[in-house]
Order: sequence, then C-alpha cells, then structure tokens
Amino acid sequence: MHGYAPREWGAITISLDGLEQSHNWLRANNNSFDHAVKALDLIVSSKGLTYDVVTCVNRKNINELPELKHFLMSRKTKAWRLFTIAPIGRAANNSDMVLTPTELQRLMDFIAASRMKDGIAVTFSCEAYTGTYERRVRDSFFFCHAGIHIASVLIDGSISACPNIHRSFVQGNIYHEPFLDILDIWNNRFDVMRNREWMKTGICGHCKDYKHCGGGAMHLWNEKRETILTCIHKTMNNESVPHTRSLHVTAVPDAAE
Ligand code: SF4
Repeated sequence: MHGYAPREWGAITISLDGLEQSHNWLRANNNSFDHAVKALDLIVSSKGLTYDVVTCVNRKNINELPELKHFLMSRKTKAWRLFTIAPIGRAANNSDMVLTPTELQRLMDFIAASRMKDGIAVTFSCEAYTGTYERRVRDSFFFCHAGIHIASVLIDGSISACPNIHRSFVQGNIYHEPFLDILDIWNNRFDVMRNREWMKTGICGHCKDYKHCGGGAMHLWNEKRETILTCIHKTMNNESVPHTRSLHVTAVPDAAE
C-alpha cells in the first residue's frame, strides 16, 4: 500500500470491535484481531488515505473502551467511530450484543467526554437519534442519509443505500438493468427513502421526538415496516422498544451492577 494510494482515493474504514478476545468473539475468528491491527497499521502509515476505525459496542467490550482508545492512540489512529449493534442478522437473538439503558448512557458519556481530545476524533455513528446527547456525541444532528446522499451496490449487484438496509428496499440490480438505466434508478426509484412519512407508525407514530428524529435510521426497518426495531433514545429513557420485547428482556442486568 505504501506509495500506491493517491490523495483522490475515497475513504476506508477498518472494524476493530474491542481488545483481542472481544474482537475475535464478535467476528467469530481467532485471527481476526491480528489481521485488523496489521491492516490498521498499513492504513495509518499511508499518507494518501482518509480512514477511520469503527467499533461495534456490545456487552463484551463496553468496559474496554478507555483501554481500546489508548490502544488506538498507540497505533497513531486519528479517527474512531462508535456504533451499537442493530438487532438484525445474527444479532437479532443475542442479548450479549444489546446494551442496557445504563450501558448506552455510559457509551454516550464516554463519547461526549472523549470528543476531539488526545489527538483522536471520537464520534457516535449516524445510526440513531440520541435525544439530549445530540451535538455532544457527533458534529451534526442525527439524520439518516440512506438513499438521499448514499447509494451502494451490494455483493450480488443489488442497488440499495447502506449495505445493512433490509433487502426489501433494494431498487434494482446492476446485472439485470441496462447500464444507462442506473442513473434513472437513482433519480426515480428511491422515493421510499426520500419520502419517509410511512415511518410515522408503530412506536415512532406517537413519539414526541419524531419532529427531531424523523423516524430513525433506515436499517432499523424491516420488510413489514410496522414499527422501528429499536430506539436508542427510548431505551436510554427506560421505555420499552420492540427488539428488547421480542428478546423477552425487560431489564438486562448491567455488568457493573
Ligand atoms: S421512537 Fe422513532 S421517532 Fe421517536 S426517537 Fe425513537 S426512532 Fe426517533
């Protein structure tokens, strides 16, 4: 990679989901941490790349965040973005991946206290509205850019927005559409992501924060579109959300308690 990365290259993100044990647990691969750190060292030492490190915060790594921050600083990392784990895929039925209300608040407090300190930019991802933490955990107010400023081509050629959005939002496939129609797809078929009135239903339908949040992030809606799967703002306020109800978790004990 040295000497091969021109400035005009876009951005690259590397996932590091905790210290070695917790990262390898989440990735289900005993070699994953070593590979990720080698890639990180290469990326950081390249002068031409814009990059950041992403960490999916869960119940196994929430207590490691200060140590992980120091580890990243020791590798000269300049940008670190933290996510929670959406209840989709194999995370849908795993309560180890779901932060409790107290842990979510600890995560927000950690980010707010770490912002732009010690030479590393720490931010919360664009995944959710955070209520009173908005502007303290990221540079801009929450807004889901899927289908408005973001399009993507998935591994099977499907045309969508962010890769983790439910497949029912796919708007075509590069292998089946004439090449010249692809711009037309972007211009004319992304209405479901641009007119989000349909999101005002389920728990969002009678939420007093809807005017600020707009119905949350697109990846938290499934093909039924009856209600958002989870809500960080409501969870932090100890309000019930569909995902924790489906796990039959009313109160997950906190690690620190
Ligand atoms: S319930 Fe819906 S509208 Fe209200 S804060 Fe949560 S995601 Fe946003």
